[in-house]
Amino acid sequence: MVRHKSSGQASKLDHTNGPGMSDVLIIGSGIAGVTTALQLARNPLRRITVVTREDDPQESNTRWAQGGIVSRGPDDNSETLVSDIIAAGAGASSPHAARLLSEEGPRLLRDILIKAAGISFDTTSTGQLRWGQEAAHSRRRILHVGDSTGLSIIQGLMTALRKSPNVTLLSHVTAVDLITFPHHSRNPLATYQPITSHGAYLFDRKERRVLQHLSSFTVLATGGLGRIFRNTTNPVGARGDGLSMAHRAGARIVNAEYVQFHPTALAVPGATSFLISEAVRGEGGVLISPDGYAFMADYSPQWKDLAPRDVVARAIHNQMEIHSYSHVFLDIASKMQASAIKARFPNIWATCLKAGIDITQEPIPVVPAAHYFCGGVLVDQWGRSNIENLYVVGEASCTGVHGANRLASTSLLEGLVWGKRAAGKIEETISQEPLSKMPCLNDLPTWDESGLVSEPDPALIQGDMQTIQNIMWHYVGLVRSADRLARAIRELRHLWNEIETFYQTTKLSDGLIGLRNAVEVALLVAQAAHHNRQSRGCHYRKDSFLSDGGRLI
Ligand SMILES: Cc1cc2nc3c(=O)[nH]c(=O)nc-3n(C[C@H](O)[C@H](O)[C@H](O)COP(=O)(O)OP(=O)(O)OC[C@H]3O[C@@H](n4cnc5c(N)ncnc54)[C@H](O)[C@@H]3O)c2cc1C
Repeated sequence: MVRHKSSGQASKLDHTNGPGMSDVLIIGSGIAGVTTALQLARNPLRRITVVTREDDPQESNTRWAQGGIVSRGPDDNSETLVSDIIAAGAGASSPHAARLLSEEGPRLLRDILIKAAGISFDTTSTGQLRWGQEAAHSRRRILHVGDSTGLSIIQGLMTALRKSPNVTLLSHVTAVDLITFPHHSRNPLATYQPITSHGAYLFDRKERRVLQHLSSFTVLATGGLGRIFRNTTNPVGARGDGLSMAHRAGARIVNAEYVQFHPTALAVPGATSFLISEAVRGEGGVLISPDGYAFMADYSPQWKDLAPRDVVARAIHNQMEIHSYSHVFLDIASKMQASAIKARFPNIWATCLKAGIDITQEPIPVVPAAHYFCGGVLVDQWGRSNIENLYVVGEASCTGVHGANRLASTSLLEGLVWGKRAAGKIEETISQEPLSKMPCLNDLPTWDESGLVSEPDPALIQGDMQTIQNIMWHYVGLVRSADRLARAIRELRHLWNEIETFYQTTKLSDGLIGLRNAVEVALLVAQAAHHNRQSRGCHYRKDSFLSDGGRLI
């Protein structure tokens, strides 16, 4: 039998072992998901389940964060951070959301990361916190642990999570779709009710079967989508799964055109894409062309190499295009002592050395790469989406903080702030309405894939994924136009149809789930970019007839 499908939402249910149940199902174990879980777990009555598709629950974009996390530095205050966020966001950041982050963030960082999770941020020889500088910040206010800040954060949070007896952590489990009514209800009268989330269908990657997990509240914390682009700093799991699931369920997605390209990813043929943190420029690193010319002053006389990311990335792109360079260089070797480079950037130094570049002796070849998704599922100040009982936190959400271009090192803090806020609101709601919000099991259709015999062909999955990545890189990349975007949409629509047929007629695998999600979110990004003819922040249309006042190059 073919998989049951209703209202665009696929139903793949397995009742063989009965459904899993929890008060709160959290999909994703990066900083946002784990923070939400830790806060909820403070009430021992709550049953919380956290799932991740990875074998190692620490693997996530969070794990790879390098530069640091924003806090409140010396001579700093929340208003200054708000104005830096809004300036970087190119006029599209929500002042309210930026204020929440700036006012609540530093205290939560201290309480959750330093006190509860025991993370030791770098200090000076006198034991004072060592404040880092990053692009478009008017103050030194970034806390870091060498250049592996994300790894230290997720290790600390995971250690704390594992001590919580009321949290079940399931790894190698890929969420397939949200369970939402009316989509998955047998009751015809459910049509007249608001869309409501009741959990998710979870694919156990080892057992290769779908589990139905019911929950009173569901939190999507699935991170970003960098992997839909050919060049990216993101690890393989960042393929927009949560965004795609939420979209199929009817969630409101906003700002999808605002994909941030990081200016500096390592450009060594054959080496995997690796981020060269903005902190390298924060410590004095300078971008130069192959002939040694420091070009950033031509593009941003005020900020030079520390201009907002969108400006720097386009400047590099422009240099590469007009001079036919395959990359430019980032010089830290002539700006910092070798010992200081190794002490501040041990991970970058070691990774580049493996790729044949000694950053203490020579400039680093760099190119821009897709890095961060500023858009997402629209949520309010508590992380609530327009679907009842569905919360979205972290990079999968759009709180409004980042507007059209994220300020460096604010996303980890956003995951922390909204993780805490979402947990607080869920706890408050459960306390006020103690009756379970679980649906009646009889209302749910059963899952049956007995008629499906084809195994997913890895060559098709890989081939289609590479096609999506190439389309996105060439036509929906740093520089866009109506023609490029229209071509991208045509090709992606064709692929979407092919992949949907593939999905409906083939046994499930994590790769197939990811492919289906990737083409869905690629279309969302391309359509949003096509629709928005105004260049702003990281969305740059070369055929734009409107501009945001001086940020174009
Ligand atoms: C190389 C790099 C460097 C960065 N440096 C910084 C920095 O210095 N400072 C900063 O603030 N930000 C930085 N960022 C951005 C920041 O790391 C992320 O925005 C942030 O960590 C996102 O956290 P998250 O919890 O929302 O998602 P993630 O940390 O990406 O976690 C997503 C989770 O969802 C899971 N998941 C996804 N799909 C599914 C599915 N279908 N089923 C089950 N589980 C699923 C994943 O396995 C993972 O556990 C960097 C990002 C990268 C890639």
